[in-house]
This record gives sequence, structure tokens and C-alpha cells, in this order.
Amino acid sequence: MIAQSKYVVHEPEKCKGKWKEVFGNDRPIHIEIGMGKGKFIMGMAEANPDINYIGIEKYSSVLLRAIQKMEENELPNVVFIRMDAEDICEVFDKGEIDKIYLNFSDPWPKDRHAKRRLTSKQFFERYDGILKKDGIVEFKTDNDLLFQFSLEQVPEAGWNLDKFTWDLHNDEEMVKGNVMTEYEEKFSKLGIKIKYLKAVKK
Ligand code: SAM
Repeated sequence: MIAQSKYVVHEPEKCKGKWKEVFGNDRPIHIEIGMGKGKFIMGMAEANPDINYIGIEKYSSVLLRAIQKMEENELPNVVFIRMDAEDICEVFDKGEIDKIYLNFSDPWPKDRHAKRRLTSKQFFERYDGILKKDGIVEFKTDNDLLFQFSLEQVPEAGWNLDKFTWDLHNDEEMVKGNVMTEYEEKFSKLGIKIKYLKAVKK
């Protein structure tokens, strides 16, 4: 099913430096790492037809759900990749990506696993290698400890912390245009505050 899907780029390393050709245009490219079932990325793609979106997901079982959504509502500006984000520098060239979204990323609570967190400075180094100058990382989470860690990692990685809030849904300015993810819906219904930050590459 995934192996045959036209919505999935199957050998993404071969597209390194050529993603504009994949989409057939020069529009900016935004990626979401750990997109889950794809609700957010598809909502963003529908709202922003002038931006190309690439959804990255580690697990086939989850990716399959996003593919099913695309089959019901095909969007020309979205493709998916099944991969571990650790390898993104083999898939995207320097400056090829304009923006990265990280939504409700796995917390990896043990200290010894900190470098696996998608907002660790080790991951910011990888983002440095694929984003253009002034490229952006936006991160949303329900998890206080992961958010505090992420706020500290941004300057440690040499990035600018442009803005942040511990309560996105009650921040009139920052919530404008917010597209909810599956996990965001679930956690906000439980009364858990959604945390958000925007980091900009120097
Ligand atoms: N972003 C979605 C949302 O907000 O509803 C899903 C959140 S879920 C907690 C985290 C997702 O990230 C899972 O689907 C998981 O498989 C994926 N993921 C975690 N680590 C990843 C990695 N290193 N590379 C790619 N995907 C990853």
C-alpha cells in the first residue's frame, strides 16, 4: 500500500537538491517532522496553496492514515516521506527548506535520551544544515518539561528565540492562523495548555 502510493517519495535521498523539481515549481518548501496522521500538514496545505509541504513520519502504520486522507482529498502541494528524521541531512540540501514544524514531538523523558528529542541542539544542528538563512522552526507541545528543555536548547544551539507562549490558545496574536493537530485537539479538550515557540536560524 505505502510502497505503491503516489503520495509518498520512496527514495528521498535521490531528491536531495532537487525538491523544487519534485513539486514542479519554485515555491517555498515547509516540512513537518513527525506528522502523525497528517491532519495539520494537510490543513496547512489547503490553507496555503502557494507553499509546498513535505510530511515526514517514522512509522508506516501512521503514515498509512495520512495516505488514506490524501486519497479522499488530494492536495497537489503535499508529499510524504517515511523516514527517521535523524537522516534529514541526507534527504535535503543546504538552504532547500524554508520552515520546519515540530508538533507534539515524542518527549524522550530520560536524560540519556535527550539527544533524540527533536528540539535538542543535536537536531537544531541538522536543521541548520537544511534550512535557508532566516529559516524557521515552529514547535507546539503539551509537555511542560519538554517545552522548558526546548526553550533552553534554542539559544544553546545558537538560534534566536523569536517568540514563545505557555498558553497558545489564549494568546490572541500567536494563535492567529493556528491549525490544530490531532494531539493538540486531544490535549486541549482535556484542559492542558498548549505551549508554542518560534526559533529563527541566525
Ligand atoms: N504531529 C502529530 C500531532 O501533533 O498530532 C503526531 C504527534 S505524535 C506524538 C509524534 C509522531 O512523531 C509519531 O507519529 C512518531 O512516529 C513521529 N516521530 C517521532 N520521532 C520521529 C522521528 N525521529 N522521525 C520521524 N517521525 C518521528
